Amino acid sequence: MSEQVLDDRADHPEEACGVFAVYAPGRRVANLTFDGLYALQHRGQESAGMAVSDRSSITVVKNMGLVSHVFDDRTLASLPGDLAIGHTRYSTTGASNWRNAQPSYRSIGEYGFALGHNGNLTNTAALAQEIGMLPGMVSSDTDVMAELLSLHFPPQKLDSSGGVDSSATDDELGPLVGALKLVLPRLEGAFSLVIMDAERIIGVRDPHGFRPLCLGSLEEGWVIASESPALDVIGADFIREVEPGEMVVIDRSGVRSLHPFGSDLPDPKLCIFEFVYFARPDSKLLGREVHGARRAMGERLAHTRLVAADLVMGVPDSGIPAAEGYALASGIPYGQGLVKNRYIGRTFIAPDPSSRVSAVRRKLNALSENIAGKRLVVVDDSIVRGTTTRAMVKLLREAGAKEVHIRISSPPYRWPCFYGIDTPLRDGLLAATASLEEIETFLGADSLAYLPLEDLRLAIGRDHGFCDACLTGSYPTVIEGSLS
Ligand code: SF4
Repeated sequence: MSEQVLDDRADHPEEACGVFAVYAPGRRVANLTFDGLYALQHRGQESAGMAVSDRSSITVVKNMGLVSHVFDDRTLASLPGDLAIGHTRYSTTGASNWRNAQPSYRSIGEYGFALGHNGNLTNTAALAQEIGMLPGMVSSDTDVMAELLSLHFPPQKLDSSGGVDSSATDDELGPLVGALKLVLPRLEGAFSLVIMDAERIIGVRDPHGFRPLCLGSLEEGWVIASESPALDVIGADFIREVEPGEMVVIDRSGVRSLHPFGSDLPDPKLCIFEFVYFARPDSKLLGREVHGARRAMGERLAHTRLVAADLVMGVPDSGIPAAEGYALASGIPYGQGLVKNRYIGRTFIAPDPSSRVSAVRRKLNALSENIAGKRLVVVDDSIVRGTTTRAMVKLLREAGAKEVHIRISSPPYRWPCFYGIDTPLRDGLLAATASLEEIETFLGADSLAYLPLEDLRLAIGRDHGFCDACLTGSYPTVIEGSLS
């Protein structure tokens, strides 16, 4: 019997990574980085790491496990320095092992830099081939990116046909910025990056802006983070989002905004699932608190997919804001029907795939007094494989529910993501081939309904471009063979 790592959230698309960077002259920043990463733990739980500079050298500490497992007081005390980057990882390309934990570090002679990446490149194979990395040598897209940067030290001046003029090598900004100016335009796909050398931190967002990245200020300096709660937790003020296609360089001269991808940028394509599921509810994206958007999704779900019922409940925790909204708009009482064991790690070893059912049992239990004899509306944000939703419906019925009506606050998830979210290929996606009725039967639900895409956009309420490729099959970039 083969062992495999199963995920107790197998019915949700899985997050990619969280990135964090801080520049605070005169202040020890290892603890700030720890707190920032802790606030971003939901974006990746497989490994954590940070790189800290004391202005003469960069020290990298990283390991497998949660932020609180990788760092303790002693480790943090051994990391002096006033600028740092940090990373929490969920592997979407490359294996889940120490070698792929981030930040990635490279040295070129005396000069060193470190890199943390959220997202997936979609031209990794071509880039790797171009720089002579054989398939067996490539451990991840981040690895290829770091290698590519290393090869551009000192930055090469291209002739005019190369599209980069000599002003790209700006001594004042250091050789890392020069190398980035040359390398970034060649990357395709999704990348929100934090990068550092001994003197500066840098944040980069790809031209589509698939993954979020924001800028904050401290009394003594500056912070860059995947999501705004990582600023809140260390007392930083939110300044603004890093724009798609922007590079911010932070050093003793302050914050400078550069545009290495030029001015002819594609339409922005923020991942719509950041609003549905990935981002923390207290995150602010496009000036909107995510919790409010999720409640609005539930309200629209009630308007478009109403059913007679006695109780509305959410699947903890991600389905709860939309369930609140559904209850508010429908007038059906809201209550709890499931209790979640909060002390279970996100992944664990189970003997075979059939154990997903027991994975749900370990994680969720029903409140039978609340649900016995009742017609339930059960709200969740998404269904990927359907196995855990099916087990949950069974659990609710065994606890006495009279009817179970599943309501999903996003459209059917039909296409794989190539932009930094771990989803199965099409044949593993329940909605890719099955009809609504077939899914309903598979889940054992009395009814099933999804929120239409137009209502999802209206609930988010922002006139902004979104990636919705996993819902529509319309990918914003060319997808070539990527690492798996
Ligand atoms: S394909 Fe889906 S999960 Fe991936 S970036 Fe686009 S919207 Fe997000």
